[in-house]
Amino acid sequence: MEFGFSEEQNILRNSVTDFMEKECPPEYVRELDEKEEYPHEIYGKMSKLGWFGLPIPEEYGGSGLGAVDLIIVGEEMSRFSYEIAAGFGISVFCGLNIIEHGSEEQKKFYIPKMIDNKIRLSISITEPNAGSDAASLATSAVLDGGSWVLNGQKTFQTASDAKDTVMSVYVRTDKDLPKHKGISLILVPNDTPGVEIRRIKMLGRKMLHTNEIFFEDVRVPKENMVGELNNGWKMLLSGLELERLYGCSTFIGSSQTVVDLALEHSKQRVQFGRPIGTFQAMGHMLADMQTEVDAARLLVYRAAWMLDQGMPCMKQVSMAKLFGSETYARLSNQGMQIMGGYGYSLEYDMQRHFRDSRIITVSAGSSQMQRTVIAREMGLRVV
Ligand SMILES: Cc1cc2nc3c(=O)[nH]c(=O)nc-3n(C[C@H](O)[C@H](O)[C@H](O)COP(=O)(O)OP(=O)(O)OC[C@H]3O[C@@H](n4cnc5c(N)ncnc54)[C@H](O)[C@@H]3O)c2cc1C
Repeated sequence: MEFGFSEEQNILRNSVTDFMEKECPPEYVRELDEKEEYPHEIYGKMSKLGWFGLPIPEEYGGSGLGAVDLIIVGEEMSRFSYEIAAGFGISVFCGLNIIEHGSEEQKKFYIPKMIDNKIRLSISITEPNAGSDAASLATSAVLDGGSWVLNGQKTFQTASDAKDTVMSVYVRTDKDLPKHKGISLILVPNDTPGVEIRRIKMLGRKMLHTNEIFFEDVRVPKENMVGELNNGWKMLLSGLELERLYGCSTFIGSSQTVVDLALEHSKQRVQFGRPIGTFQAMGHMLADMQTEVDAARLLVYRAAWMLDQGMPCMKQVSMAKLFGSETYARLSNQGMQIMGGYGYSLEYDMQRHFRDSRIITVSAGSSQMQRTVIAREMGLRVV
């Protein structure tokens, strides 16, 4: 069994760390969080280094990196900012979907722009009546001459309001087919007439923003459909393992930062004449926290390795999502306890982890849905 990374992977990790240390200090993250601003500036710098093309095949201007490489990037980036790493992933994975299912024209049109940060890509599935049951989505698209006409509403949409965003909108194109079969994917620029985006005020995710989107007779050229008509559900599931794993890598990087912050505080903060970390209750809590981060990390690495080997790994990916997201949420809560009143203060970063981590056991497939996937993979017919 080999637990090491290749020399190239170590270089990749170091280069991400070096960049983030220089370009993404804690003050920068705090400022964007406070001002609720999308991280355009740092994404511009990342695009100059070609990062948005890291997993994109070389023939479309990318570097063709594999799953293990990509989780190294996600883990290191998220040590500095969970949100910056998450927003990066959304664009890249929507791009990979176009690579996998789009026409040659779509790949040549959208992918270089995404890599050069001239556009951003976002994903639009969830609706008021279609959350965990995503296949019940009802936003419709009807062909009218040379255009698709969209009507309906999406909710909880990350970063769809960022400037020059092209939204990957999953729509119902056939109401008479079974619900998983009448869905298609259409690309809609967010400044198309008839699109109205309203910000939803949320506890966290202040940089990326969470939105409702209303579509009223929104017309886009029929060429904006990605892949085959009514094949959207399969497309949604096709790249899911890599996308989920990237998400998991951001949970472990962020969790590590939570432990590092809590550990540092426990060494500095003196009560009853000694650092609080030397109280066994605190020391043991920190030991458990680091153990959980390492366990989450190993689940992610194992699933990424399996994916690179071409092995089926949905169960392992779901375990990594379940345990990784629960770990980040639990640890940021414990981090608040270790930091006492300072954790609750907006002047310290722990509260941001607490806010941002709370939703990850719900979004992108809740913990309950992950357990259902794992149980089914174990041969149980759970509903
Ligand atoms: C900050 C944020 C960002 C998001 N970004 C995006 C985005 O960019 N694009 C997008 O399309 N969506 C996005 N989402 C939506 C997200 O994926 C959904 O919130 C998620 O799928 C859950 O749907 P819901 O919120 O409607 O909860 P519900 O589906 O109503 O679930 C509520 C509770 O019921 C449980 N539950 C539901 N069904 C079952 C079941 N069968 N078995 C057991 N338990 C069940 C769930 O686990 C959960 O605990 C985002 C959400 C948030 C909060």
